[in-house]
Amino acid sequence: MATYAYKDANRKNVIYASNAVKEDRNKRFYCPNPNCAAHLYICAVDGSKKAYFRATRKEFPHIPMCSFGPKTVDFEPNQFDESKFVFDNAMDKLFVETDAQKVQKTSENNNQGTVKQHPLRTIKQIYQMCKSKPVTDVYGDKEIGSMILDDRSEYRYPKGCFGSRIVEAIVKGKLYDNGKKQIYLSAPVNSKKYSFVLEFSDEKTYRVIRDEIYNNKDKIIVVAGKWEPSGIYNSFITKVYGRKQITVIKE
Ligand SMILES: [Zn+2]
Repeated sequence: MATYAYKDANRKNVIYASNAVKEDRNKRFYCPNPNCAAHLYICAVDGSKKAYFRATRKEFPHIPMCSFGPKTVDFEPNQFDESKFVFDNAMDKLFVETDAQKVQKTSENNNQGTVKQHPLRTIKQIYQMCKSKPVTDVYGDKEIGSMILDDRSEYRYPKGCFGSRIVEAIVKGKLYDNGKKQIYLSAPVNSKKYSFVLEFSDEKTYRVIRDEIYNNKDKIIVVAGKWEPSGIYNSFITKVYGRKQITVIKE
């Protein structure tokens, strides 16, 4: 599902689900993914539930691996304090060693009643926010296209991906090298133009993340990296310290 869509095939006129009106209910809208031909329709426009766009017609579904398919985007903006979000600071906090064995649970609303707002913290939260708005929108201190490399923002990365960025990647070809403790991914999803190398120093962390990606080879893999040229054309490398830098997008 998507929280925004386009009124036209050229993806110039954006419509946010939260601004849709009753008259929009039977209109066909275009998927935010420029490569996806899905016909989207607004759902829950006049109910109390949050409105969103869905490919409701079986003949016009999202393409395989479209990141706006069912349940992939589920961002609740009201749960977070946008004014305190500084992208580089949030990224820095993901570059920490984590206990490889521990499954991380991030339950945000554990004090019942009032929900205390904080800025986005996890890679999943940042990713979902990035997918909830067009790449030219600003969230916190930055434009979304400067935070994430995906099919939509590819035009902003003509020479590659450098510095602190989230990459929406997939598995293509050789996935890992145990000797080098490296994992290989490609992005953006459609063009697969760039190669990405995840480099580990900790064996245990390497194995846990390798296995998780191996078991989800057909899914979208999101990586927070500090990317540098790897020495090979169109290939970029980052160190991975722990599980906080990676999330698998499951439907
Ligand atoms: Zn789509």
